[in-house]
Parts: sequence; C-alpha cells; structure tokens
Amino acid sequence: MRMEHDFSYVRENYARIREAVNTAALKCGRDPNEITLMAVTKTVAPEIVNCAIDCGIRFLGENRVQEYQSKRELYHPDAQVHFIGHLQANKVKYLIGNVAMIHSVDRMSLAQEINRCAMKHGIRQDVLLEVNIGGEESKSGVMPQQLPELLEQVAALTNVRVCGLMTIPPPTQDTCHLEAMQRLFEDTKALHVPDTEMRILSMGMSGDFEAAIACGSTLVRIGSALFGARMYR
Ligand SMILES: *Cc1c(COP(=O)(O)O)cnc(C)c1O
Repeated sequence: MRMEHDFSYVRENYARIREAVNTAALKCGRDPNEITLMAVTKTVAPEIVNCAIDCGIRFLGENRVQEYQSKRELYHPDAQVHFIGHLQANKVKYLIGNVAMIHSVDRMSLAQEINRCAMKHGIRQDVLLEVNIGGEESKSGVMPQQLPELLEQVAALTNVRVCGLMTIPPPTQDTCHLEAMQRLFEDTKALHVPDTEMRILSMGMSGDFEAAIACGSTLVRIGSALFGARMYR
C-alpha cells in the first residue's frame, strides 16, 4: 500500500503566518494587502512547494541556480519565482527569462551581465538592490554609503529596472538594522532617480517578519516557519 504524504502542516503554517502578517500590518496602520508573503523554497521538495501554492502562495524565492533548474518544471505555474540568493555573473544566463525578479544585485558587474542577457532576450529584467545594512564583512550586499552610486549606475542600464531594495540584516533581536533600512529606503526613494520604481522593500524572514513589517517591509521571505527546519544534504 502506498503511503500518502501528509502536508497539512504547510496549510496550518501558512494560515498562521498570513494571520500574523495581517495583524502586524494592521498594528502599524498598514493595509495587509500591501505585504507580499513569499515562500522560500531552498531544499524543499517541489510537491511540498506546490502545496503552499495550493494554499494561496503566489511568490516563490529561490536561492540556488542549479536547484531551481532541477525544480522549475515541476512547480505549478500559478506562482511567480524570484531569485533571492547570492548570484555569480556566470549563472545569470540561466535565470533570465525564468525569474520575475532578482533580489540580490549588489555590484555593477552583476547588473551589467543581467543587462546583457536581458537585452538578448528582448526583456527588461526587474531587480532589487541588496544592501548589507549591518556592514558585515562576510555578507553580500552593497554598503549603505555606496547605494546611491550603484543605484544611479544600474538605473542607467536600458534592460534592467530597479524596483526597490532587499536586505538580510544581522541576526539580532534589536530592530536597529530594520529601522536603518527603513530610513535608507525612504532616502533612496526621495532621490527620484529616473527610470526606477522604488516600490519594494524585501525585508523580514521567519524570525523577524513582524518587526520588518513595522519598519515598512513590503515583501517578507519565509522559509522555515512555513516548511519546517531545512534539511541540507
Ligand atoms: C533562507 C532565506 C530566507 C528564509 O529564511 P527563514 O529564516 O527560514 O525564513 C529568506 N531570505 C533569504 C535570502 C534566504 O536565503
């Protein structure tokens, strides 16, 4: 007899997280519909990801190009896939045409390669600029002081459209990095750089999404709270 897998925990987790997102939004006077709940799918089997899509998830976040290539065809087409992981320029060609947005643009050389590939595909690729808000040595992301210059340069590329900012703050209970990111997002919007659409602040994960929403996040990226602890092989 074949065992049916029970993925009902995903449905329960999703309902609980959606509720917590809504509550966090209302608490600070924001419309819950302004906040996108993205499912982060690294190491998660496609049938479990599809279960999340059945529950109503419409955005998936992928971290690794190779893993995404092996799962892409198996996903329900109802969800939009964004690339959120660190990206090497030589892998860009596998993503263009296959992802709606790239969250991890943190250097001009990467933006130029995205521009080159997007031009070849005849599309304009939506991207976010990733900021290293904690100024951590080991982390990717542009340093906050360098953001205006990078934004100007990337905005000038014809086949790339900057739609906002993304960050992975240092793991701490203190909300100072989230607040710093909120200020940076507002300051960056106020620059009114031509040909940009600064509408997305991708910030907040399983451990801090409520605090991130209080600090203006418009997109939260949830992995373990939705799918359970990740198992790396
Ligand atoms: C893994 C990951 C997440 C989700 O992390 P959780 O703590 O499991 O919710 C969000 N964003 C990025 C860029 C990630 O790599």
